[in-house]
Amino acid sequence: MEAIINSFHHLPHRNFTTKFRQLKAAAACVETSPPPETLSNVSSLSKLKLNPAKARHAHIIKMPNQQDSDIKVQSLITSYLELGDFHSAAMLFFVGLEQNYLHWNTFFQEFKNKGGDPIEILQVFVELHNIGVVFGSENLAMLLKMCAKLRDSWLGLEIHVCLIKRGFDQDMHAKAALMNFYGSCWGSDSAKRAFDEASDQTSLLWNEAVLVALRNGEWFEGIDVFRHSQFSSMKIDSNTFTIARVLQACGKIGALDEGKQIHGYILRNAMESDLAICNSLIFMYSKNGSVEQARAVFDLMQNRNLSTWNSIISGYAAYGYLEDAWELLHEMETYNLKPDTVTWNTLLSGHLHHGSYQEVLNILQHEHMQNAGFKPNNRSVTTVLQAASELHYQYIGKEIHCYVIRNGLDSDIHVVTSLLDMYVKNDDLNSAQTVFDGMECRNIFAWNAMISGYSFKGDFEKAASLMSHLKGEGVRPDLVTYNSMVSGYSMAGRIDEALDMMKQIKDSGLAPNVVSWTALISGSCQNGYHRHALDFCYQMQAEGVKPNSATIASLCRACAGLSLLQRGKEAHCISIRNGYVEDAFVCTSLIDTYSKCGDLESAYSIFRATERKTLASWNSMIMGFSSYGHGKKAISLFHIMQQAKKLQPDAITMTALLTGCKHSGLIDEGWRFFDSMETKYGITPTIQHYSCMVDLLARAGYLDEAWDFISQMPVEPDSTVWGAILGSCRTHGSLQLGEIAARQLFKLEPQNPANYVLLMNMYAASERWDDVDRVRDLMERRSLKIGNVWSWIEMNNTVHVFSASGKPHQEDGEVYFELYHLVSEIKGMGYLPDTKCVHLYTDDKGEKEKALLSHTEKRAITFGLIKTKTNTPVRVIKNTTICGDCHTFAEYTSLARKREIILKDGIRFHHFKEGKCSCRELL
Ligand SMILES: [Zn+2]
Ligand SMILES: [Zn+2]
Repeated sequence: MEAIINSFHHLPHRNFTTKFRQLKAAAACVETSPPPETLSNVSSLSKLKLNPAKARHAHIIKMPNQQDSDIKVQSLITSYLELGDFHSAAMLFFVGLEQNYLHWNTFFQEFKNKGGDPIEILQVFVELHNIGVVFGSENLAMLLKMCAKLRDSWLGLEIHVCLIKRGFDQDMHAKAALMNFYGSCWGSDSAKRAFDEASDQTSLLWNEAVLVALRNGEWFEGIDVFRHSQFSSMKIDSNTFTIARVLQACGKIGALDEGKQIHGYILRNAMESDLAICNSLIFMYSKNGSVEQARAVFDLMQNRNLSTWNSIISGYAAYGYLEDAWELLHEMETYNLKPDTVTWNTLLSGHLHHGSYQEVLNILQHEHMQNAGFKPNNRSVTTVLQAASELHYQYIGKEIHCYVIRNGLDSDIHVVTSLLDMYVKNDDLNSAQTVFDGMECRNIFAWNAMISGYSFKGDFEKAASLMSHLKGEGVRPDLVTYNSMVSGYSMAGRIDEALDMMKQIKDSGLAPNVVSWTALISGSCQNGYHRHALDFCYQMQAEGVKPNSATIASLCRACAGLSLLQRGKEAHCISIRNGYVEDAFVCTSLIDTYSKCGDLESAYSIFRATERKTLASWNSMIMGFSSYGHGKKAISLFHIMQQAKKLQPDAITMTALLTGCKHSGLIDEGWRFFDSMETKYGITPTIQHYSCMVDLLARAGYLDEAWDFISQMPVEPDSTVWGAILGSCRTHGSLQLGEIAARQLFKLEPQNPANYVLLMNMYAASERWDDVDRVRDLMERRSLKIGNVWSWIEMNNTVHVFSASGKPHQEDGEVYFELYHLVSEIKGMGYLPDTKCVHLYTDDKGEKEKALLSHTEKRAITFGLIKTKTNTPVRVIKNTTICGDCHTFAEYTSLARKREIILKDGIRFHHFKEGKCSCRELL
């Protein structure tokens, strides 16, 4: 304290002196010489009217001891105030009246009401103080309060010096004023020192100590000081104002227990009839989510004002009890209280935060509200704009934009930022840019909205240039800024640039959070960089960032994309560890992952355990059954979903069902689902559904029907349709149709070697070697290489790859040894090697059988049999379709070795068990 005062004395002379000189000159002019009546250029009427006031003033000064002088002085002060001579009014207040707190308050109120600037009172004080006028403690206390309010930290110090000099500094009111001043101008620590220095810590000072903390936003500290005051050895009476403020603090920081204790104190001290206290209790309870207790306080109140009703309505609305909020609004009107802007805004934001966006707009058009004469203010407009953004109602957004301009709300930064956001979310970057350009000062939200708009659209040049502009204007990009860049880059598949952004986050002193990492991971997944996604996920955990449900879902997608069952199980563990096992979104991802990684059983057990199944969960499970060829199970699951759960299917459900029919050869069921799509469920078939139907017909051998179907399709057949035809033509040996399909495919996807290989194999099977050469030449001309064929098996987190043309596996020797044994064993059971699957330009059967043995899926299956326990299924992944011979081999092997074999090929799952496959030979 002393240090502050000392430092004050060393300060350079402040401009008070110069100001004072001017004032003094002016005062001299007013008091000594009456204005010459001849003054021809008197411009204002008020100057003329000043004369009688001055004359009366002079009269009073001459007769100071008159009894009614106080009344006269007061009416004179009023005259000065009415004339707008605030200086004279203040001067007279100080010198002509014996002041007390009551006088001060009336004077101050009148002064302000008449348009006086309180600074002028301080200036008059300085003027008088400098010519040696001595002030009483009450005056000094009031002046200190003004210094606190006007943040005049230096004058306040001077007043403190006065108090010390005159021995007033232990006066309770002066002390309280000092605490207020130090708290406002020099921080709560200085105020605390003033409190500690007090010889007698009275209730007044304790109350002030609480208020100082609360005024400085130190909510915990304020509540703490209040509790201390209750335990102090003295009997501290807290005043209602302080209690109300402490309760509000408890509401703001979620201190329900403390709030309840204060409620107890209120009841013990019989303060429960105080309106301000009750309003604060309602506020405290509803902010803490105890709407029922808030209601209990409300119901017991004898008198309620508008703020009471607003508090309780706001409590209900904030927690989504929107109907109750409306009911209260109507009840309030029966008491002849009209809802005000606060009431309406409370309802608007309640509806917004609980997703009733349409209702937000309805309220605005509500006849009830229009009749009530409600005029939306900046807060209402911000809320409505957010609802319009969510609903993508740009036309409403534009109407609000007009309203904003008409009503001059465009100077409010929140309003303008919401406008900007609305345009960005509606994908209208031009309008957003116009709003942005028109902004006088732009906050980080505005910058972020623009940057994310451009980044998500893939216009990285503009986004990056905005980012450098932002830095140029001295605004620091925050995590949101960086995250929108990370997200944009990774969604566009530009992983290196996304990583560079992650580095920039760290360089700027921030740490990437779960949003940054999830953006990176999900972007990598979407672009097929599943390995990257997995790596990023481990990196994120290594940096101590906890995943959220979106991260886990992306992780699952990466595992499913890579068919890594072991990693999928890890993702499952992560979701358990982080408490997401009941999250429907996470569960659906896990169902999908398990079924795509070849563990349909685990997928089904998660599905059964999921309590709140969404349509997506059902779709995932139906798709799981379908891709394993359990078409009937898929269909019965669909019926349960529809009948027991009353869920209506969407386009994805239909794709899953048709896939099931296709993999199980359920032609009639397939047709029935396809026909019911539009008529029964109102779903317009897309190319995916048509493609499924073509595949269904062609696979089952109905190639002519498939051909007819294609010619009647209202959409242009794409590569999936022709691919389905080509694949089936190979299985069913229809070379002529296959050639047509291949020709279409060479046009649609000229760079896909698989189509060329398929056609070559078909020619080879018919021994048309010239045509084989012709297709090979075509591939060479288009510089295409026959893609590598491989199968792999995952074991103890290691992937063992068996490739047709690449490096041999290090244990191939052992594998071939076992494979010879196995083949001779199953030959004894009836297995006949299908040499048609070998496209060698030779007639040597032995040579062809040897070639069959080298097929990657046979090697991977054999490796699995050798290396895994006898009771676990062998899971193999192949990047292309399984060949007919390997399929027969796997069927026999599953019988001979009593092992389940699950093989995922380029198209579907084959589940071999006891000599049969789930695909029923529909390869
Ligand atoms: Zn094979
Ligand atoms: Zn099969």
